[in-house]
Amino acid sequence: MEDEESLSIGLEYNLREEGYSVARAADGRRALELFASRDFDLIVLDLMLPYVDGFEVAARIRGRSPRVPILMLTARTSAADRIRGLETGADDYLTKPFHRKELLLRVEGMLRRKAWYQSSVEASPATRVGRCEIRFDELTVRSAGRVTRMTPREAMVLKYLADREGKVVTRRELLEKVWQVPSDVETRTVDAFIARLRKMIEPDSGRPAVIRSIRSAGYVFTASPEEPAGTPRKPGAGRSGGPSGKAAPRPTRAKKARPAPKRTVRGKPR
Ligand code: CA
Repeated sequence: MEDEESLSIGLEYNLREEGYSVARAADGRRALELFASRDFDLIVLDLMLPYVDGFEVAARIRGRSPRVPILMLTARTSAADRIRGLETGADDYLTKPFHRKELLLRVEGMLRRKAWYQSSVEASPATRVGRCEIRFDELTVRSAGRVTRMTPREAMVLKYLADREGKVVTRRELLEKVWQVPSDVETRTVDAFIARLRKMIEPDSGRPAVIRSIRSAGYVFTASPEEPAGTPRKPGAGRSGGPSGKAAPRPTRAKKARPAPKRTVRGKPR
């Protein structure tokens, strides 16, 4: 999905040479029509498109198909745009101008990650964290009757951490394994993803207990976080799924226990 014809034709040629079958769209409207007309394994999406821009196209594609990987092409270089692109549902981005080889590597990497995620999800499609149920197969987090949708990349980050429960995972490792990009860039991107995941799954995202930061090392995932002492608790709130999320307190390393009133989960359960 790209409106610059010479670039678009060139990319189609390169991708076909690698053995992919390709369909092109030159504007946002056409892109959405094309997307609705058949199934795709991966979308390459220009940000600046006529009629409907790439952010909007990505959001609408996500609404219909939560798991198809989207590679966003952007002429912009600000981190804010990249993060917005990733938030609206793009899985990866490439800043123009880029080498064709780079695009092919990204496409390959994204398809490989998609395959990794699929097999990992088949092995364990869901997990319970405190009072949240995380459905990796549906890309959803259910908590207190509320359903939050994860982007594929958010789900991959969370899956990677959850599969390594109790172990320190470094930002570098996340960048290399989940993003497959050189680790000397974009640690802020990892932090932005972790911040959004915390909002979905932490009882108090200001005091993370499920995904804890380990100073100058990385993150540790804990499925059964210790509840802060003296936490006022609403009876029955978010506990539809039985007692499995509750666990005996575990020893927590190097963490100051600062009892504080827990905020209720944002958004009103209905
Ligand atoms: Ca364009």
